[in-house]
Amino acid sequence: MLVDNVYQLIGRTPLLKINIQVPKHSRIYAKLEMFNPGGSVKDRLGMALIQRGRAIGAIKENTTIIEPTAGNTGIGVALAAQQYQLPVKLVVPEKFSFEKQVLMRALGAQVINTPAEQGITGAIKKAQALHEEISNSYVPLQFQNPANPDVYYRTLGPEIIQDLGNQQIDAFVAGSGSGGTFVGTTRALQEKYPAMKAVTVEPEGSILNGGPEHPHRIEGIGVEFVPPFFKQIHVDQVKTISDDTAFQYVDWLAKNMGLFAGSSSGAALAASLQLAEDLPEKSTIVTVFPDSSERYLSKHIYD
Ligand code: PMP
Repeated sequence: MLVDNVYQLIGRTPLLKINIQVPKHSRIYAKLEMFNPGGSVKDRLGMALIQRGRAIGAIKENTTIIEPTAGNTGIGVALAAQQYQLPVKLVVPEKFSFEKQVLMRALGAQVINTPAEQGITGAIKKAQALHEEISNSYVPLQFQNPANPDVYYRTLGPEIIQDLGNQQIDAFVAGSGSGGTFVGTTRALQEKYPAMKAVTVEPEGSILNGGPEHPHRIEGIGVEFVPPFFKQIHVDQVKTISDDTAFQYVDWLAKNMGLFAGSSSGAALAASLQLAEDLPEKSTIVTVFPDSSERYLSKHIYD
């Protein structure tokens, strides 16, 4: 495969059949988003946010892009902004992985840390304050930008349908941070399979199932507020997964399938296996593995 630039490599990731004993002889397939050039599902979003910003006239020459992010969206935005030589400032709560912050800087972005205890809400406030200070700046704001679910509706969903050669899909399982991946992909898949169940995944410590808010080791998913995009679909179920369970499957994937999957992938697999118990025999479940474990080695992901 000959390509002209790295940006062309975003999307069209492989769909892997997970070789694990699934309850009721069902099947689980996972979209391997670590194969994007920036290493995560959020490369798709980074490019979409920059392109939409340009299309609506919010991004002009030399506009400073400012975005609050847990990390992967920051890498995606930095990658996309580079193509248009735009300066980038990423606001990242301190708790998120060192590797992701190093990669953002490697791509030319400036990283601004906010206190861990203020969570993503603190990062959003700081991004808005920077926007007021810096003239010719733009905050795409993944948490409410329609380009977020839309890019998954346009790319990830149709790719899955194509990967499976129009084989019926009974359930789609995906973690939610901003909710963009889950909502956009669900919309695309339910257009073709209206009876498909839409199940999202959160770590213990996230608020969707009403549990108390507390820190967790799983990165990239978990919310402090219900994602506004959830209004676009019917959420059939929320699976809440513990850190220990997610990390157990991260380990299982490396040992048994040769796959370096991040903790939100471990949580997605755990939730898919739990869901299989409630579905009819021989169901087809599709999930998303958003990134690789390699960006969490400093967080002792395999220890
Ligand atoms: N997993 C990881 C590792 C992520 O970085 C993200 C994005 N924060 C997600 C899952 C969730 O994606 P979304 O924001 O589309 O809900």
